[in-house]
Amino acid sequence: MFDFDLFVIGGGSGGVRAARFAAQYGAKVAVAEERYWGGTCVNVGCIPKKLLSYAAHVHDEVRDAAGFGWQLEKVTPGGFDWATLIANKDKEITRLNGIYRKLLGSGGVTLYDGRAALIDATTLEIRETTGNIKRVTAKHILVATGGWPVKPDIPGAEHAITSNEAFHLTTLPPRVIVVGGGYIAVEFASIFNGLGAQTLLSYRGTRVLKDFDADLGEHLASEMVKKGVELGFSSNIVSITKLGAGLQVSFADGSMREVDCVLYATGRAPNARGIGLEAAGVAFADNGAVVVDQDFQTSVPSIHAIGDVIDRVALTPVALAEGMVVADRLFNTGTRTISYDNIATAVFSHPNVASVGLSEAAARIRSGPNGGAVRIFKSTFT
Ligand code: FAD
Repeated sequence: MFDFDLFVIGGGSGGVRAARFAAQYGAKVAVAEERYWGGTCVNVGCIPKKLLSYAAHVHDEVRDAAGFGWQLEKVTPGGFDWATLIANKDKEITRLNGIYRKLLGSGGVTLYDGRAALIDATTLEIRETTGNIKRVTAKHILVATGGWPVKPDIPGAEHAITSNEAFHLTTLPPRVIVVGGGYIAVEFASIFNGLGAQTLLSYRGTRVLKDFDADLGEHLASEMVKKGVELGFSSNIVSITKLGAGLQVSFADGSMREVDCVLYATGRAPNARGIGLEAAGVAFADNGAVVVDQDFQTSVPSIHAIGDVIDRVALTPVALAEGMVVADRLFNTGTRTISYDNIATAVFSHPNVASVGLSEAAARIRSGPNGGAVRIFKSTFT
């Protein structure tokens, strides 16, 4: 009756994993990817970020090397070549794109390079990058279209970049403002600072990593300052003006600063509009996330959704786990479940920090009105 048992929209972390598992369970599967195989994590997320983060660590390691007996030449900011780093990063990403393609192809999954959209609850149209338009039917459709970074609506926002563009800058900007206080913001501030850029982290809140334990955010902030990052809390940019080769940034308190790059890391929005989901009857939350039940089924029984587009926990291992649950439920025993408790999380700031389980604040809320049942063990070490 249908061309495919499962059609996955989006060849990112969650979509690829669900497709592979479904194919292993014997389903006839297809995936459409419009931009880059491997999705955000491989192309403009976890992986390139870690490569840049490693590069930014080298400076400190070389500085410490003499103490460990290594006689090295002093590393100067001029000794670092951004273009080489980006070219090698791109080479690695291209290699990974190929691996993702191969994994799916050898697993018997049909690949479409192009944008997929729904015509109805079981019919899709794919606009291939070659210009061809194809129409297929599928018993089940999985929306795994990820998220997209957002910039605030302020005058001059078009002069600012997001993490997407940061990975493709042609030169290392000498003076940078990273806006935000979440993990992507502290990671990029650490990268730019470690590579030698004068870096300000501008955040409207009063501490970084607000969703983590307060001790962790406070410790990270003081270590970042020691490494040379300038922290601007309760700081709000109101406009950005182009000024010759640089940018003039105006803050709400009336102060101004000239920099070469402003990077917004202030959030990501689910990416599911304009692909026919509304017309098919799929329900959305106010923030644009696709609403799903405990089995990742949307308000339309033939359509499921996983990963960043459902806006639960936007991390690759979570998207992978959700993808495996859906494949299992649709094509296998249906016994696999997912728990969002105790997700181990690493932040590739300098220094790296990591967390698992409840924060102190969350534990206090859970332990009742006076938070009395919470015991704190704390150790500081070098
Ligand atoms: P994605 O990986 O975003 O994949 C969605 C795919 O769908 C994309 O490739 C897109 O092109 C495609 N697509 C969208 N619409 C269509 C369409 N209509 N037709 C065809 N294709 C379509 N997570 C971690 O766990 N660890 C980290 O260290 C980490 N670091 C990160 C750093 C940065 C800078 C960013 C931005 C994210 C990071 N993440 C990290 C988060 C992680 O990348 C995401 O949680 C993960 O990629 C989500 O997977 P997904 O499958 O939901 O979506």
